[in-house]
Amino acid sequence: MEVSLAFQLSPTICNIIDSNDKFPVRRILCVGANYVAHAIEMGRDPSREPPFFFAKPTDAIVNADRVLDAIIPYPPNTSNFHYEMEMVVAIGKNAQNIEVEEAPNVIWGYGAGIDLTRRDLQKAAKDKGRPWELGKGFDNSAIISSLCPVSKIGHPKDSRIWLTVNDTIKQDSNIDKLIWSVPEMISILSKTMTLKPGDIIYTGTPEGVGPISKGDKVCGGVDGIGEISITIS
Ligand code: MN
Repeated sequence: MEVSLAFQLSPTICNIIDSNDKFPVRRILCVGANYVAHAIEMGRDPSREPPFFFAKPTDAIVNADRVLDAIIPYPPNTSNFHYEMEMVVAIGKNAQNIEVEEAPNVIWGYGAGIDLTRRDLQKAAKDKGRPWELGKGFDNSAIISSLCPVSKIGHPKDSRIWLTVNDTIKQDSNIDKLIWSVPEMISILSKTMTLKPGDIIYTGTPEGVGPISKGDKVCGGVDGIGEISITIS
């Protein structure tokens, strides 16, 4: 039987705070181990070794907000499903081979995100030196709040980042503890690929990551930037 080509891809978009406009998502990039205390809890050397990056498929995005509680199905093939609360950066201009000082100019805005992770699959891949896609790049794995434009909030450098599971605080840190700053990450990425409008960067999670189960309610945010609420079903 022939498979029809009469389908259309629906574009991935992010909501924008206090606006009906949408931010179209081109690509999702994530940085690993970007807070010292989290690097230590993952068994890594917390010294300032060069940052490393991985990607998620664009359609892993789920828009969620404090008022827009998203239902996230517990994913298949894992028994160690983890939350990672992160600040997210939204790119609004091409960035190729740019220096740290220029990097803020290509940022459209910021949001809060949860990098959902099948930790058991990630660990199995890590142990064998294999790619992380199955641990990181699955359906509904990139939760994102409404985005805040730079024109409203500037470039936040000192904001509480926190996450609760069923009202118990699990992550509580500050984005001023990022090992690699947002401009540094953008500059480094721009020297190895062209960043373009619509690219989104998950900037890493602080310590306190852990498992979640069906029925759990997960809330989190980066103060002054965004807040998320999801329920695992
Ligand atoms: Mn992460």
